[in-house]
Amino acid sequence: MTNTGVTNTGVTDTGVTNIGVIGTGVIGAEHIRRLTTAVPGARITSVTDVDLDRARAVADSLAPGASVPATGAELIESPEVDAVVVTSWGSTHRDYVLGCIAAGKPVFCEKPLASSSTDCITILEAEVAAGRRYVQVGFMRRYDPAYLALRAAVHGGSLGAPLLMHAAHRNPALPAHFTGDMVVTDSAVHEFDLIRWMFADEIAAITAYTPRRNSRAKDGFPDPLVLVLELANGVLVDVEVLANARYGYDIRGEVVCEDGVAALSESAGVVVRSAGTVALGVPTDWPERFAAAFDIEFRSWLASVAGGEEPTGPDAWDGYAAAACIDAALVSLHDGGRVPVTLVDRPSLYRP
Ligand code: NAP
Repeated sequence: MTNTGVTNTGVTDTGVTNIGVIGTGVIGAEHIRRLTTAVPGARITSVTDVDLDRARAVADSLAPGASVPATGAELIESPEVDAVVVTSWGSTHRDYVLGCIAAGKPVFCEKPLASSSTDCITILEAEVAAGRRYVQVGFMRRYDPAYLALRAAVHGGSLGAPLLMHAAHRNPALPAHFTGDMVVTDSAVHEFDLIRWMFADEIAAITAYTPRRNSRAKDGFPDPLVLVLELANGVLVDVEVLANARYGYDIRGEVVCEDGVAALSESAGVVVRSAGTVALGVPTDWPERFAAAFDIEFRSWLASVAGGEEPTGPDAWDGYAAAACIDAALVSLHDGGRVPVTLVDRPSLYRP
C-alpha cells in the first residue's frame, strides 16, 4: 500500500498509505489535518463530500494535490485510494462501508457504524461473507490515556471486583442541527461502547430518566438525560448526559470496586493557585479533550492497514452492539421503562 507519487504529508514515501476521505465537515477536516500533520504513515490522495465545493476547499487547504471525485462510490473504487475514512453523516455510513468491504479496502468509519442496528447486521453479514474484518469504528475513547489508565486500575487486581460506575458526558452546548434523539445517538453512544470495553461485557438493559428540564434546553430535548445501564455481569452504570453544561466539555468516570474506587483524574492540564483558589482547566470541547486519543487511534489503524492486517480497534460487532443500545435507550426515552438490549449471535469472526 505504498505510492511514490504526489506527497502532501511531509512523511517519507515508504510505507505510506493512500487514504480517501468521504465527508469534509468538522471531523473530516480534523482527521485530514491529523493525517497530514500529526500522524505519520498516511497520504490523503482523494477527498469528497456531498458539497463538492467544500471538498475542494478542504483539499486545497489541507491536502493539496488530492483528487475530488464526484461521489463517495467513485472514491472507494479509485486506484489512488488504498483505505477509506468515512466522516459523512451517520445515515450515509452503511452504504460507504459496504462499498469498501465489496472493494476489499480497509475502512475507518466514524461513529455511528450505521443509523440502525438492522443496517449494522447487514455490514456484519458482508464482512462474514468476505471472510475477514475490514471495518474499524471511531470509538476513540478506547485510546484515551486517561480511560486506559482507569481500565488498568479497575482490572489491576488491587481494587477487587467492579460493582458500579458513575459517568458523565457534559457538552458545553450542542450544534444547532442536533435533534433530541441525537443526545442518545451521537453523545451517549460513546458511553455505550466505552462501558462495554471497560467491563468486557455486553449491556443487557437500559432505563432512561429525564430529570427536571434545563431551562436552556430546546423543545423536545432530553436535557439532562440519565441512562442506567445494566451489564450482563450485574455491574450497574449511571450515565449523565448534559447538553448545555456551558462551563466546558467535561467527561467524568468513577468506578466503584469491592476494595476501592478509581476515577478519571480531574485534569490533564496545569493546576493554578492564585488569589486564594486552586484552579484546573476544563477542555472547551471534544477535539481538545480527545486530541491524543484520536492521534493514537489513527496510529493504530494505520499500522494495521500498512501491515495488511485486520484492524485491532473497535470492529463492526462493536458498532452493532452500540447501535442495539441506541435502540433500547430510545425506546426507554420515548415509551419509558426498562428495555432489554437484544443482540443477534456473535459471529466467530468477531470473537475476542
Ligand atoms: P458535519 O460537520 O456536518 O460533516 C459531515 C459532512 O458530510 C458534511 O460536509 C456533509 O455535507 C457531508 N455529507 C452529507 N451526506 C453526504 C454523503 N452522502 N456523501 C458525502 N458527504 C456527505 O458533521 P461532523 O460533526 O463532521 O460529523 C460527521 C460524523 O462524524 C458523524 O457521524 C458524527 O457522529 C461523527 N463524529 C464523531 C465524533 C467523535 O467524537 N468520534 C465527533 C464528531 C463527529 P452537508 O453538510 O452539505 O450535508
